[in-house]
Amino acid sequence: MAKTKRGRVLWNLPSRGRGTCPVCNRTRIKLLYTHTTSEGKALKVCKRCIPASQERVDAAVK
Ligand SMILES: [Zn+2]
Repeated sequence: MAKTKRGRVLWNLPSRGRGTCPVCNRTRIKLLYTHTTSEGKALKVCKRCIPASQERVDAAVK
């Protein structure tokens, strides 16, 4: 499988895969992982927030 989280593929993503993580509010971090809220909404989070709990993801949406 091709690497989708490093290298040139990131250049095709909006903002080159970077932005502000909604969970930890770090800016200009790579948002490459998806968390799903309890409402079924997909949310892009950074590497640090992969193990974030469902409550923290839901709190980020509000
Ligand atoms: Zn984060």
